[in-house]
Amino acid sequence: MNRNAYTGRFAPSPSGPLHAGSLVAALASFLDARVHEGRWLVRIEDIDETRTVPGAADGIVATLAALDMHSDGPVLVQSRRKARYQAAREQLGTHAYPCGCSRKEIADSRTGIASDGAAIYPGTCRHGLAPGKTARTLRLRVPDAGMPGELVRFDDRWLGPQQQHLASEVGDFVLQRADGFWAYQLAVVVDDADQGITDIVRGADLLDSTARQIYLQGLLGYPTPRYLHVPLLMNEVGEKFSKQNGAQAIDLGRPLQELQRAAAFLGLETSAAHDRESFWSLASAAWDARFGGR
Ligand code: GLU
Repeated sequence: MNRNAYTGRFAPSPSGPLHAGSLVAALASFLDARVHEGRWLVRIEDIDETRTVPGAADGIVATLAALDMHSDGPVLVQSRRKARYQAAREQLGTHAYPCGCSRKEIADSRTGIASDGAAIYPGTCRHGLAPGKTARTLRLRVPDAGMPGELVRFDDRWLGPQQQHLASEVGDFVLQRADGFWAYQLAVVVDDADQGITDIVRGADLLDSTARQIYLQGLLGYPTPRYLHVPLLMNEVGEKFSKQNGAQAIDLGRPLQELQRAAAFLGLETSAAHDRESFWSLASAAWDARFGGR
């Protein structure tokens, strides 16, 4: 790969301050862009406005800057890009269809449980809204088992070869929610393409979404980036370290220690760093040794 052709990104949801778990993803994506001499962009994923905490986006950007991580371009904000998501929806044509089923109806259908724990959509409105129903959501039709595109494979740069059957492991998934907001899966694919992202480095909680995103990229005629999913930082009780379970904000009173803790979690040896400059050179060298050539 032409090293300079690299564009990476960090895409936090502003549902709270930057915490130790999201710093791991920020650091990994930043180091990967740096060792590939590429660009690193920050995008604020506030498409689910019901979860947005006022001021969190500015706080995250300021915290990243205080840790020396600056976006190499304008910070994209999803809530301002709804016209782009609408245009992508139009481009999808009949691959997308209105669905009038409630969550309860889908759960009661017992079609199966998707890999992310949700009930698999039974296909009730696939060929037109079922009688008596009004449209609630917009769904993407995934190919039937055995049809082209149904089995999605990709090589994850951390985890190795991956595959997912869209029909049996995911099902027709939501593109636009009942409350009118666009779904993350559509927004992220449109944004990654519009920002020219070549490499996605993010937490392994999103591994399960990758096949859906690759399938959407194909339908929209977008290139598929390379993927690297880093392990997830867990709290003491084995839950994902997240804003929802009260993860503490990064302590900007001790920036070097916060960076070193995130690096150590990624297996990068930086304990000899005595200031931020030496941290960045040790962390970059350690990341380069593992992922620079790939
Ligand atoms: N906004 C997502 C999150 O904060 C990340 C999405 C992505 O990196 O694709 O978990």
